[in-house]
Amino acid sequence: MWSKIYKTIVLFTLLWSVHPMFAQENLDDVLSNGIKTVVIDPGHGGKDPGCHGGITNEKTVVLAIGLKLGEYIKSKYPHIKVIYTRDSDKFIELDHRAKIANENHADVFISIHANAAGSAAYGTETYVLGLHRTESQQQVAERENSTILFEDNSEEKYKDFELTPDAIIARQLQLSVFLNQSINLASKIQAQFRAIDRRDRGVKQAGFLVLYKTTMPSVLIETGFLTNSSEEKFLHNPVNQIKMANVIFKAFQEYVAEIEGVNTLVENGAGFEASIKEIKESDEEEQIVFKEEKDNVYFKIQVETSRVPLSVNHKRFNNIAVKEYKQDGLYKYTAGLFENDFDAANAYKQEMQNIGFKHAFVVGFVNGQRIPIAEAIKLAKK
Ligand SMILES: [Zn+2]
Repeated sequence: MWSKIYKTIVLFTLLWSVHPMFAQENLDDVLSNGIKTVVIDPGHGGKDPGCHGGITNEKTVVLAIGLKLGEYIKSKYPHIKVIYTRDSDKFIELDHRAKIANENHADVFISIHANAAGSAAYGTETYVLGLHRTESQQQVAERENSTILFEDNSEEKYKDFELTPDAIIARQLQLSVFLNQSINLASKIQAQFRAIDRRDRGVKQAGFLVLYKTTMPSVLIETGFLTNSSEEKFLHNPVNQIKMANVIFKAFQEYVAEIEGVNTLVENGAGFEASIKEIKESDEEEQIVFKEEKDNVYFKIQVETSRVPLSVNHKRFNNIAVKEYKQDGLYKYTAGLFENDFDAANAYKQEMQNIGFKHAFVVGFVNGQRIPIAEAIKLAKK
């Protein structure tokens, strides 16, 4: 009984705080006047590092991507006001980020983050506000929301604030006029990630506090998993940070053109090629080598064998990155790549077994050919 009354109060408060009519007017305004203000929100910062891997953390990576994105937007659209919730390594409270967007009457809000999970998970996803459909989506939202633990008085500030399913649904209803636009932008971003061969984990919904509070089309981008060593290396690399900003910018151009009903040439950000070239030339030795070099021994973890070819996105692979090779008429699938390092491969095999690949085992390769494991270990020791 009391909980029902409580829920009614919550619903009432929420419905009252942003009336759908107000939201509709906002959207009409955007549709007729186009995009005038963009708020870019690099997640975390200062005392809140966000998630991390072995070599970098979230606040660093997302700031680099966010700043570059803003630069590209300013250059192509001098009339669009670009506002950052932070443009340096500074802690900003979650509700303040939303407030910046709301008070500046932003027409779109883009929050940039990086993800964390088991070491095998990888890929990109873009969120809009909604009810999560899986536990892992809820975990992403919970992790991102937990930044409020770094805030002073967070208990007091958020005491009336509960992201219950009822509250999220009510809020989604109020903001429903923006939801289609949010999903639209999110889909364009994911399509652009696919275009540069980033794994597309899809457009998703979850109860993110920051999206809950913004009153305009809003997305939260998870640019990749820092807990996955190859994605961490990818996101740590300045060349790839620029590439990520560039494809988000491309999605943004498509979005603006659609909202404003004009044709546009979707192009790279100003100076994109030059800056890529410059970085490549300046620290060539820091470039990460993904390809296998001649005569080196490579250990991989074989996780699956099949008589028929399987898509690398097959659900059997449980979202881990796999590569296919053919041997004796069978299709075999491996995860991980360890140069001359059997022990590291063996540890990774254990991880694979722990997440359900019970029969995972280490295999050795030289020049693209599988060789007996004893021979591979011997060669690696040399
Ligand atoms: Zn984050």
